[in-house]
Amino acid sequence: MVTISFDPAAGTLYWYFTELIAGSTDSEGECASTLLVDLDGQIIGVELELDESIAPDDLTLALEHPEVSYDRRNYLLSVRLFAEEPAGAQPLHEPAILDFDHDGRLQGCELVAAAEFGLADRLVRLAPFMIALEDEAAIETAPRDQLLDQPPEAASAVAPSSSFRSGFVALVGRPNVGKSTLLNALLGQKVAIVSPKPQTTRMPLRGILTRPDAQIIFVDTPGIHDPRTKLGTFMVEQARRAIPDADVICLVVDLTRPPGRLDERIAGLIRRVRSPRLLVLNKVDMRTSDGQANVDAYRALGPWDMELAISALHHQGLETLLDEIVQRLPLGTLLYPDDQLTDQSAREHVAELVREQVLRYTEQEVPHGVAVEIEEWEEKERAIYIRATIYVEKDSQKGILIGAGGTMLKRIGSAARHSAEAVLGRTVYLELWVKVRQNWRDDPSSLYWLGYRAGER
Ligand code: GDP
Ligand code: MG
Repeated sequence: MVTISFDPAAGTLYWYFTELIAGSTDSEGECASTLLVDLDGQIIGVELELDESIAPDDLTLALEHPEVSYDRRNYLLSVRLFAEEPAGAQPLHEPAILDFDHDGRLQGCELVAAAEFGLADRLVRLAPFMIALEDEAAIETAPRDQLLDQPPEAASAVAPSSSFRSGFVALVGRPNVGKSTLLNALLGQKVAIVSPKPQTTRMPLRGILTRPDAQIIFVDTPGIHDPRTKLGTFMVEQARRAIPDADVICLVVDLTRPPGRLDERIAGLIRRVRSPRLLVLNKVDMRTSDGQANVDAYRALGPWDMELAISALHHQGLETLLDEIVQRLPLGTLLYPDDQLTDQSAREHVAELVREQVLRYTEQEVPHGVAVEIEEWEEKERAIYIRATIYVEKDSQKGILIGAGGTMLKRIGSAARHSAEAVLGRTVYLELWVKVRQNWRDDPSSLYWLGYRAGER
């Protein structure tokens, strides 16, 4: 039987073709959809407008159900829960989100209708198919220890008092709103890489702030976005996981821009969990005429426990933000040693610093299809010797990166070396190589090989 659940807070209707198991969703897609209704306007089915990118084999889970049929010529997947002909059809303005499993099989879809449609009042006929959403919440919640690399070492010296608080804070939001800038500002030292281009943060990065009264572990997640490649899928998965595991969630938004579909989706994910949620309106330093309208629109994506306006760039409002976060953390002891700033290893950190300089110096020419691997790391008495390879996807990108007579690569190397020395507090010798590895973003084996492993971080 096809099963359905409804999230009234998010106004989302979920249709499942299979029993969902935690972590079984591997990728997502989108398509146009139409709700089918009876004479009373009650929902009795849905049509999904797929396209040729979805093979008939991908629909095996869906087509196991007698209620589901597929018109191959028009790529139209219909779910009709009753034998009757629908009396009406309501096309939805928001695309449906399609969930696929590891074998690329469609597992189900998520639908959002405009508020005027009144989804909540049209579910009468769906009652026999409905399952409680608690199940859904369980699906989204991965056990916390799955998120930690290793169980944190038993923490050191400071014996926290009984009012000490500690926990995880997710910084989520679409790319380019300033999450990494905020993380660096809060920690007062460079931890995350910042770029004027969206999506520079690849791995969720934990930044640890220890104060006399609390330890806050910030998780800066890659922007939640529509996945187009395997790497995109991986990044979305990481971000989706960070939300249910967090003790406090901060949705960071750029108040100079109105909310987009991505903000709405992220807010929808946030509404499904019970943790306290703060709306962080960033970039107050930039004056715009529609600031207030934007604030109202972001507010409407709530409810929020608190909203705060800040400037991550100019360090405004950060003390208040920290205090509001700490108040909402659970009572607890140190989770990491009190002198630790990040759980990212020094090697990963240097790789990120190299990547940052590549993006900085090559601007538009070398897009985000670049990965850096540390091949050698040797700590000697006077210096650390590091050999790193920059992987690009095309020969032309390799040419740009090296530059005439190697000038570009020298510039990148020297800038990255300076930041590495600042971070490591040692003299660094950095040797850079550039290699072409075609389509590495879509190749699961090379993703594994470069260390992007879902489920292991
Ligand atoms: P992320 O993708 O959300 O991690 O965003 P980043 O931290 O990489 O920042 C994206 C861009 O926004 C960078 O160019 C930042 O300098 C800029 N930015 C971040 N915070 C602020 C802020 O408070 N004010 C202004 N004016 N710019 C900011
Ligand atoms: Mg970032």
